[in-house]
Amino acid sequence: MKFSTMTIHTGEEPNFERGFGDVVVPIHLSSTFARKEIDKPTGGYEYSRTGNPTRDALEKRLAALEEAKFALAFSSGMAAETTLVLTILNSGDHVIAFDDLYAGTRRLFDIFSKNFAIEFTYVDATNPDNVKNAIRRNTKLIWLETPTNPLMKICDIKVITEIARDKGVLVVVDNTFATPYLQKPLLLGADIVVHSTTKFINGHSDSVGGAIMLSDERIYEKLKFNQNAIGAILSPFDSYLVLRGTKTLHLRMERHCQNAMKIAQYLESHPKVKRVYYPGLKSHPQHELAKKQMLDFGGVLSFEIDSDIRGVRRFLGSLRIFALAESLGGVESLIEHPATMTHAYLSKDEREKIGIKDTLIRISVGLEDIDDLIEDLDRAFDSI
Ligand SMILES: *Cc1c(COP(=O)(O)O)cnc(C)c1O
Repeated sequence: MKFSTMTIHTGEEPNFERGFGDVVVPIHLSSTFARKEIDKPTGGYEYSRTGNPTRDALEKRLAALEEAKFALAFSSGMAAETTLVLTILNSGDHVIAFDDLYAGTRRLFDIFSKNFAIEFTYVDATNPDNVKNAIRRNTKLIWLETPTNPLMKICDIKVITEIARDKGVLVVVDNTFATPYLQKPLLLGADIVVHSTTKFINGHSDSVGGAIMLSDERIYEKLKFNQNAIGAILSPFDSYLVLRGTKTLHLRMERHCQNAMKIAQYLESHPKVKRVYYPGLKSHPQHELAKKQMLDFGGVLSFEIDSDIRGVRRFLGSLRIFALAESLGGVESLIEHPATMTHAYLSKDEREKIGIKDTLIRISVGLEDIDDLIEDLDRAFDSI
């Protein structure tokens, strides 16, 4: 079955034996499930944390989209990441991570580093040699994000997973920015994919959720056990919302990419812009790799405005369609200032080391009419 058919049907096939043939999976709100005898859960379910039919439907669909055997849905991207780290890492293990990570992931890793003696090394993974050279005897995991947030750096999943496999190291890819429509890390050799379904997968800015997809049954069984033991599961209502969101993932991503490309080109030719970070531009240092690894270039981009922090404030304050807000991947266009918003957790030094300047602005390009979006940006540039 092709991607756009799976986004609509997988996990949601009409059930005539145990249901009415609903074409949309019902929201099963029951927290517990009755049985006929003590030792047999009659309908296949016991308690809703352990398993829920609506969540199961979503997990089936999410697995299919990443071409994974298994998926697990969590109450947030961070809940998924926490469960994953607690499942595969132990004190004394070493992790290599991309230096331009989602700041919340970095903050989580700091907790594991301080409280559980797990070691983290951050490298610029755009050069696979940096990853290779950081591998130690106790390296257990390589954690990648591509494209990264907010600098849209691209790393070569295939080359890095080959390096990892030689050393028996697992590779996790946070595929939130690309989505499985644009990039399938498991097919490129990665072991595990994580998502914040809050972003493009749900796509409507009305649900916080996360997911893990993988095909290794042994790791899946441990994760499934811990999903129930830790309990950070996605609710039935959110599972329904995300299922609904996935039905248009392919269409939304196409328009996100089209609009983002046009905005990137507009910004690149604008005299008040110093630099644009978008993998679809020829000026992007990993443009060729992005072309090879991704179907298209995604809906997020960043740029440096040729001004100072006061100009940044005026620019952001003059927009009418773009909402000044964190998060990304929804149908509405959002804009934000990483240095004071999403990446405020990092010190100024840490930000500068990876290249996040105070004049950097990140856009999550929505699905509005491109002429309206560009007109809005034009007005904001006129204000500085
Ligand atoms: C938002 C995000 C997360 C965290 O997900 P939440 O759903 O907000 O907990 C992780 N990784 C990336 C790349 C993100 O954008």
